[in-house]
Amino acid sequence: MSAKKNSVENVVILGSGCAGLTAAIYAARANLDPLVVLGVDAGGQLSLTTDVENYPGFPEGVQGPELIQFMKQQAARFGARFVPGDATAADLSERPFRLEIEGSQVETQTLIICSGASAKMLDIPGEDRLIGHGVSTCATCDGYFFQDQELAVVGGGDSAMEEAIFLTRFASKVSVIHRRDQLRASKIMQDRAFDNPKIEFIWNTQATEVVGDAEVEAVKLWNTVTDERWEKPINGFFLAIGHIPNTAIFEGQLPMDAQGYLLQKEPGRSHTETDGVFVGGDVHDHIYRQAVTAAAAGCRAAIDAERYLELAGEAPQSSVATTRTST
Ligand code: NAP
Repeated sequence: MSAKKNSVENVVILGSGCAGLTAAIYAARANLDPLVVLGVDAGGQLSLTTDVENYPGFPEGVQGPELIQFMKQQAARFGARFVPGDATAADLSERPFRLEIEGSQVETQTLIICSGASAKMLDIPGEDRLIGHGVSTCATCDGYFFQDQELAVVGGGDSAMEEAIFLTRFASKVSVIHRRDQLRASKIMQDRAFDNPKIEFIWNTQATEVVGDAEVEAVKLWNTVTDERWEKPINGFFLAIGHIPNTAIFEGQLPMDAQGYLLQKEPGRSHTETDGVFVGGDVHDHIYRQAVTAAAAGCRAAIDAERYLELAGEAPQSSVATTRTST
Protein backbone atom coordinates (compact mmCIF):
# COMPACT_ATOMS: atom_id res chain seq x y z
CA MET A 1 0.00 0.00 0.00
CA SER A 2 1.40 3.40 -0.90
CA ALA A 3 1.48 6.82 0.70
CA LYS A 4 -1.40 9.27 0.18
CA LYS A 5 -1.04 11.27 -3.03
CA ASN A 6 -1.02 15.08 -2.89
CA SER A 7 -1.90 15.20 0.75
CA VAL A 8 -0.21 15.53 4.08
CA GLU A 9 -0.09 12.53 6.39
CA ASN A 10 -1.28 12.90 9.98
CA VAL A 11 1.49 10.69 11.25
CA VAL A 12 4.35 8.79 9.72
CA ILE A 13 5.91 6.07 11.83
CA LEU A 14 9.47 5.06 11.01
CA GLY A 15 10.17 1.44 11.82
CA SER A 16 8.17 -1.76 12.17
CA GLY A 17 9.61 -3.39 15.27
CA CYS A 18 7.69 -3.58 18.53
CA ALA A 19 7.77 0.18 19.09
CA GLY A 20 6.71 1.18 15.57
CA LEU A 21 3.93 -1.38 15.30
CA THR A 22 2.54 -0.58 18.73
CA ALA A 23 2.57 3.10 17.79
CA ALA A 24 0.74 2.08 14.60
CA ILE A 25 -1.94 0.17 16.53
CA TYR A 26 -2.60 3.14 18.81
CA ALA A 27 -2.44 5.75 16.05
CA ALA A 28 -4.71 3.71 13.82
CA ARG A 29 -7.24 3.19 16.59
CA ALA A 30 -7.18 6.97 17.13
CA ASN A 31 -8.20 7.25 13.48
CA LEU A 32 -4.94 8.95 12.49
CA ASP A 33 -4.58 6.71 9.43
CA PRO A 34 -0.85 6.20 10.12
CA LEU A 35 1.69 5.42 7.45
CA VAL A 36 4.32 2.96 8.67
CA VAL A 37 7.67 2.90 6.92
CA LEU A 38 8.73 -0.71 7.40
CA GLY A 39 12.49 -0.14 7.20
CA VAL A 40 15.06 -2.34 5.49
CA ASP A 41 15.27 -4.46 8.64
CA ALA A 42 11.48 -4.83 8.75
CA GLY A 43 10.28 -6.21 12.05
CA GLY A 44 13.32 -4.96 13.92
CA GLN A 45 15.38 -7.11 16.25
CA LEU A 46 12.51 -9.48 17.08
CA SER A 47 12.55 -10.70 13.53
CA LEU A 48 16.11 -11.94 14.21
CA THR A 49 15.18 -14.04 17.18
CA THR A 50 13.28 -17.31 17.61
CA ASP A 51 11.48 -18.08 20.88
CA VAL A 52 10.25 -15.10 22.86
CA GLU A 53 9.23 -16.22 26.33
CA ASN A 54 9.14 -12.92 28.20
CA TYR A 55 6.52 -11.03 26.21
CA PRO A 56 3.36 -10.94 28.34
CA GLY A 57 0.33 -12.78 27.05
CA PHE A 58 2.06 -15.80 25.54
CA PRO A 59 2.28 -18.45 28.28
CA GLU A 60 3.88 -20.93 25.89
CA GLY A 61 6.14 -18.30 24.28
CA VAL A 62 5.94 -17.03 20.73
CA GLN A 63 8.34 -16.87 17.79
CA GLY A 64 9.79 -13.37 17.31
CA PRO A 65 8.75 -13.05 13.63
CA GLU A 66 5.29 -14.38 14.49
CA LEU A 67 4.84 -11.79 17.24
CA ILE A 68 5.79 -9.06 14.78
CA GLN A 69 3.34 -10.45 12.23
CA PHE A 70 0.54 -10.42 14.86
CA MET A 71 1.29 -6.79 15.67
CA LYS A 72 1.33 -5.86 12.00
CA GLN A 73 -2.01 -7.57 11.39
CA GLN A 74 -3.44 -5.84 14.44
CA ALA A 75 -2.32 -2.42 13.16
CA ALA A 76 -3.63 -3.19 9.66
CA ARG A 77 -6.99 -4.19 11.08
CA PHE A 78 -7.45 -0.60 12.32
CA GLY A 79 -6.29 1.01 9.11
CA ALA A 80 -2.51 1.39 9.36
CA ARG A 81 -0.81 1.51 5.96
CA PHE A 82 2.65 0.14 5.27
CA VAL A 83 5.36 1.10 2.82
CA PRO A 84 8.48 -1.00 2.31
CA GLY A 85 11.98 0.46 2.45
CA ASP A 86 13.53 3.21 4.52
CA ALA A 87 13.30 6.96 4.91
CA THR A 88 16.50 8.11 3.23
CA ALA A 89 16.25 11.85 4.01
CA ALA A 90 14.30 14.08 6.37
CA ASP A 91 13.65 17.80 6.65
CA LEU A 92 12.28 18.66 10.08
CA SER A 93 12.91 22.41 9.79
CA GLU A 94 9.20 23.21 9.48
CA ARG A 95 5.83 21.48 9.47
CA PRO A 96 4.66 19.63 7.59
CA PHE A 97 7.85 17.61 7.88
CA ARG A 98 9.25 16.23 4.65
CA LEU A 99 10.60 12.75 4.22
CA GLU A 100 12.07 10.95 1.29
CA ILE A 101 10.96 7.35 1.32
CA GLU A 102 12.60 5.21 -1.34
CA GLY A 103 12.54 8.05 -3.86
CA SER A 104 9.04 9.38 -3.01
CA GLN A 105 8.39 12.62 -1.13
CA VAL A 106 6.03 12.32 1.84
CA GLU A 107 4.78 15.18 3.98
CA THR A 108 3.51 14.66 7.49
CA GLN A 109 2.18 16.71 10.38
CA THR A 110 3.79 14.45 12.96
CA LEU A 111 6.59 11.95 12.94
CA ILE A 112 7.16 9.01 15.29
CA ILE A 113 10.69 7.69 15.09
CA CYS A 114 10.95 4.01 16.05
CA SER A 115 13.78 3.14 13.70
CA GLY A 116 15.58 1.07 16.33
CA ALA A 117 19.20 0.29 16.87
CA SER A 118 20.99 -2.46 15.05
CA ALA A 119 23.29 -4.74 16.99
CA LYS A 120 26.78 -4.58 15.56
CA MET A 121 27.77 -7.87 14.02
CA LEU A 122 31.22 -9.31 13.37
CA ASP A 123 30.46 -10.26 9.76
CA ILE A 124 32.14 -13.63 10.09
CA PRO A 125 31.06 -16.89 8.42
CA GLY A 126 28.23 -18.72 10.19
CA GLU A 127 27.07 -15.68 12.15
CA ASP A 128 24.13 -14.70 9.93
CA ARG A 129 23.09 -18.26 9.16
CA LEU A 130 22.95 -19.30 12.83
CA ILE A 131 21.28 -16.20 14.24
CA GLY A 132 18.37 -17.44 16.35
CA HIS A 133 20.00 -20.90 16.42
CA GLY A 134 22.66 -20.23 19.02
CA VAL A 135 23.90 -16.87 17.75
CA SER A 136 22.22 -14.09 19.70
CA THR A 137 22.52 -10.37 20.32
CA CYS A 138 20.39 -10.41 23.47
CA ALA A 139 21.24 -12.42 26.59
CA THR A 140 18.09 -11.30 28.39
CA CYS A 141 16.00 -12.66 25.53
CA ASP A 142 17.81 -15.92 24.86
CA GLY A 143 19.90 -16.83 27.93
CA TYR A 144 17.22 -19.04 29.42
CA PHE A 145 17.51 -21.48 26.51
CA PHE A 146 21.08 -22.40 27.44
CA GLN A 147 20.69 -24.22 30.77
CA ASP A 148 23.99 -25.87 31.82
CA GLN A 149 25.60 -25.16 28.48
CA GLU A 150 28.87 -23.50 27.49
CA LEU A 151 28.58 -20.03 26.01
CA ALA A 152 30.79 -17.35 24.56
CA VAL A 153 30.27 -13.59 24.70
CA VAL A 154 32.21 -11.31 22.38
CA GLY A 155 33.07 -7.81 23.57
CA GLY A 156 34.83 -5.96 26.35
CA GLY A 157 32.36 -3.19 27.22
CA ASP A 158 29.66 -2.88 29.86
CA SER A 159 27.16 -4.76 27.68
CA ALA A 160 29.51 -7.74 27.35
CA MET A 161 30.10 -7.84 31.12
CA GLU A 162 26.40 -7.48 31.85
CA GLU A 163 25.46 -10.19 29.37
CA ALA A 164 28.19 -12.56 30.57
CA ILE A 165 27.16 -12.12 34.21
CA PHE A 166 23.49 -12.60 33.33
CA LEU A 167 24.26 -15.72 31.32
CA THR A 168 26.01 -17.37 34.29
CA ARG A 169 22.53 -17.84 35.80
CA PHE A 170 21.92 -20.51 33.22
CA ALA A 171 25.19 -21.54 31.65
CA SER A 172 27.76 -23.90 33.10
CA LYS A 173 30.53 -21.64 31.79
CA VAL A 174 30.78 -18.32 29.93
CA SER A 175 33.89 -17.35 27.97
CA VAL A 176 34.33 -13.65 27.28
CA ILE A 177 36.27 -13.23 24.04
CA HIS A 178 37.90 -9.82 23.80
CA ARG A 179 40.10 -8.48 21.03
CA ARG A 180 42.44 -6.65 23.43
CA ASP A 181 43.95 -7.44 26.83
CA GLN A 182 42.05 -4.68 28.63
CA LEU A 183 38.36 -4.21 29.07
CA ARG A 184 36.50 -1.08 28.11
CA ALA A 185 33.82 -1.80 30.72
CA SER A 186 33.45 0.29 33.87
CA LYS A 187 35.52 -0.82 36.86
CA ILE A 188 32.53 -2.07 38.82
CA MET A 189 31.32 -4.25 35.94
CA GLN A 190 34.85 -5.57 35.39
CA ASP A 191 35.16 -6.50 39.06
CA ARG A 192 31.82 -8.30 39.04
CA ALA A 193 32.83 -10.27 35.98
CA PHE A 194 36.30 -11.09 37.33
CA ASP A 195 34.75 -12.26 40.61
CA ASN A 196 32.31 -14.59 38.89
CA PRO A 197 33.71 -18.15 38.98
CA LYS A 198 31.74 -19.19 35.90
CA ILE A 199 33.35 -16.52 33.68
CA GLU A 200 36.69 -16.99 31.93
CA PHE A 201 38.40 -14.39 29.75
CA ILE A 202 40.06 -15.10 26.46
CA TRP A 203 42.24 -12.08 25.68
CA ASN A 204 43.65 -10.68 22.45
CA THR A 205 41.39 -12.97 20.54
CA GLN A 206 38.99 -12.61 17.66
CA ALA A 207 36.24 -14.97 16.60
CA THR A 208 36.73 -15.86 12.94
CA GLU A 209 33.86 -18.30 12.28
CA VAL A 210 30.78 -19.70 14.00
CA VAL A 211 30.61 -23.43 13.38
CA GLY A 212 27.47 -25.60 13.28
CA ASP A 213 24.93 -27.12 10.91
CA ALA A 214 21.50 -26.47 12.44
CA GLU A 215 22.78 -24.96 15.70
CA VAL A 216 25.97 -23.46 17.06
CA GLU A 217 28.52 -26.14 17.90
CA ALA A 218 31.80 -24.23 18.14
CA VAL A 219 33.59 -20.99 17.41
CA LYS A 220 36.90 -20.62 15.60
CA LEU A 221 39.28 -18.30 17.43
CA TRP A 222 42.47 -16.46 16.56
CA ASN A 223 44.87 -15.04 19.11
CA THR A 224 46.17 -11.91 17.40
CA VAL A 225 49.33 -11.78 19.58
CA THR A 226 50.50 -15.39 19.42
CA ASP A 227 48.81 -16.14 16.07
CA GLU A 228 47.42 -19.33 17.60
CA ARG A 229 44.19 -20.60 16.00
CA TRP A 230 41.82 -23.09 17.54
CA GLU A 231 38.22 -24.22 17.64
CA LYS A 232 36.32 -23.91 20.90
CA PRO A 233 33.17 -26.02 21.40
CA ILE A 234 30.25 -23.86 22.59
CA ASN A 235 26.46 -23.98 22.43
CA GLY A 236 25.71 -20.28 22.29
CA PHE A 237 27.53 -17.30 20.80
CA PHE A 238 26.47 -13.90 22.12
CA LEU A 239 27.50 -10.66 20.44
CA ALA A 240 27.85 -7.65 22.72
CA ILE A 241 30.01 -5.31 20.66
CA GLY A 242 27.61 -2.39 20.71
CA HIS A 243 24.60 -1.15 18.82
CA ILE A 244 24.18 1.49 16.16
CA PRO A 245 21.01 3.56 16.50
CA ASN A 246 19.38 4.19 13.13
CA THR A 247 19.41 7.96 13.33
CA ALA A 248 21.79 9.05 10.56
CA ILE A 249 19.14 11.04 8.65
CA PHE A 250 18.43 13.16 11.74
CA GLU A 251 22.00 14.26 12.37
CA GLY A 252 22.08 18.02 12.91
CA GLN A 253 18.27 18.12 13.17
CA LEU A 254 17.51 16.37 16.45
CA PRO A 255 19.61 16.22 19.63
CA MET A 256 21.38 12.90 20.12
CA ASP A 257 23.94 11.56 22.55
CA ALA A 258 27.54 10.72 21.63
CA GLN A 259 26.49 7.29 20.31
CA GLY A 260 23.71 8.72 18.15
CA TYR A 261 20.74 7.77 20.35
CA LEU A 262 17.95 10.34 20.13
CA LEU A 263 17.33 12.43 23.22
CA GLN A 264 13.89 13.15 24.59
CA LYS A 265 12.92 16.65 25.59
CA GLU A 266 12.04 15.36 29.07
CA PRO A 267 12.89 12.00 30.63
CA GLY A 268 9.96 9.61 30.52
CA ARG A 269 8.19 11.42 27.68
CA SER A 270 8.29 10.70 23.97
CA HIS A 271 8.63 14.33 22.82
CA THR A 272 11.82 15.54 21.17
CA GLU A 273 13.05 19.12 20.99
CA THR A 274 11.15 19.47 17.72
CA ASP A 275 7.41 19.90 18.24
CA GLY A 276 5.53 17.16 16.44
CA VAL A 277 8.42 14.68 16.45
CA PHE A 278 8.24 11.79 18.90
CA VAL A 279 10.46 8.81 19.67
CA GLY A 280 9.92 5.25 20.85
CA GLY A 281 11.97 2.09 21.32
CA ASP A 282 15.64 1.29 20.99
CA VAL A 283 16.37 4.39 18.90
CA HIS A 284 16.35 6.31 22.20
CA ASP A 285 16.81 3.50 24.73
CA HIS A 286 20.13 1.73 25.12
CA ILE A 287 19.34 0.59 28.64
CA TYR A 288 16.30 -1.70 28.58
CA ARG A 289 16.10 -2.74 24.90
CA GLN A 290 13.22 -5.17 25.49
CA ALA A 291 10.26 -5.90 23.25
CA VAL A 292 7.87 -4.93 25.99
CA THR A 293 9.60 -1.65 26.85
CA ALA A 294 9.78 -0.78 23.15
CA ALA A 295 6.08 -1.53 22.77
CA ALA A 296 5.28 0.69 25.75
CA ALA A 297 7.38 3.51 24.29
CA GLY A 298 5.60 3.17 20.94
CA CYS A 299 2.28 3.45 22.72
CA ARG A 300 3.40 6.62 24.51
CA ALA A 301 4.62 8.17 21.28
CA ALA A 302 1.31 7.53 19.50
CA ILE A 303 -0.71 8.97 22.37
CA ASP A 304 1.56 12.03 22.45
CA ALA A 305 1.25 12.50 18.68
CA GLU A 306 -2.53 12.23 18.90
CA ARG A 307 -2.69 14.80 21.71
CA TYR A 308 -0.35 17.08 19.82
CA LEU A 309 -2.57 16.99 16.73
CA GLU A 310 -5.65 17.55 18.85
CA LEU A 311 -4.13 20.60 20.54
CA ALA A 312 -3.02 21.93 17.17
CA GLY A 313 -6.58 21.48 15.89
CA GLU A 314 -5.31 19.03 13.26
CA ALA A 315 -6.80 15.78 14.54
CA PRO A 316 -9.20 14.07 12.13
CA GLN A 317 -12.86 14.63 13.07
CA SER A 318 -14.30 11.14 12.57
CA SER A 319 -13.64 8.64 15.31
CA VAL A 320 -14.45 5.62 13.16
CA ALA A 321 -11.28 3.83 12.16
CA THR A 322 -11.26 2.55 8.59
CA THR A 323 -10.23 -1.02 7.88
CA ARG A 324 -7.52 -1.51 5.32
CA THR A 325 -5.33 -4.38 4.40
CA SER A 326 -1.58 -4.34 4.67
CA THR A 327 0.92 -5.28 2.04
P1 NAP B 1 30.95 -0.29 23.90
O1 NAP B 1 31.20 0.36 25.21
O2 NAP B 1 31.15 0.49 22.66
O3 NAP B 1 31.88 -1.59 23.86
C1 NAP B 1 31.92 -2.39 22.73
C2 NAP B 1 32.96 -3.48 22.98
O4 NAP B 1 32.95 -4.33 21.84
C3 NAP B 1 34.38 -2.94 23.13
O5 NAP B 1 35.06 -3.66 24.12
C4 NAP B 1 34.99 -3.17 21.75
O6 NAP B 1 36.36 -3.48 21.79
C5 NAP B 1 34.26 -4.39 21.29
N1 NAP B 1 34.14 -4.41 19.84
C6 NAP B 1 33.60 -3.47 19.04
N2 NAP B 1 33.67 -3.85 17.75
C7 NAP B 1 34.29 -5.05 17.75
C8 NAP B 1 34.67 -5.95 16.72
N3 NAP B 1 34.42 -5.69 15.44
N4 NAP B 1 35.29 -7.10 17.08
C9 NAP B 1 35.55 -7.39 18.37
N5 NAP B 1 35.21 -6.57 19.39
C10 NAP B 1 34.60 -5.42 19.08
O7 NAP B 1 29.45 -0.88 23.79
P2 NAP B 1 28.50 -1.43 24.93
O8 NAP B 1 29.22 -2.33 25.84
O9 NAP B 1 27.30 -1.94 24.23
O10 NAP B 1 28.08 -0.12 25.75
C11 NAP B 1 27.46 0.98 25.07
C12 NAP B 1 27.15 2.07 26.10
O11 NAP B 1 26.13 1.62 27.01
C13 NAP B 1 28.37 2.40 26.96
O12 NAP B 1 28.34 3.77 27.26
C14 NAP B 1 28.14 1.61 28.22
O13 NAP B 1 28.77 2.14 29.35
C15 NAP B 1 26.60 1.66 28.35
N6 NAP B 1 26.13 0.47 29.07
C16 NAP B 1 26.07 0.54 30.42
C17 NAP B 1 25.65 -0.56 31.15
C18 NAP B 1 25.60 -0.49 32.63
O14 NAP B 1 26.04 0.49 33.18
N7 NAP B 1 25.07 -1.49 33.30
C19 NAP B 1 25.30 -1.74 30.50
C20 NAP B 1 25.39 -1.80 29.11
C21 NAP B 1 25.82 -0.69 28.41
P3 NAP B 1 37.46 -2.35 22.17
O15 NAP B 1 37.34 -2.18 23.66
O16 NAP B 1 38.72 -2.95 21.73
O17 NAP B 1 37.07 -1.12 21.39
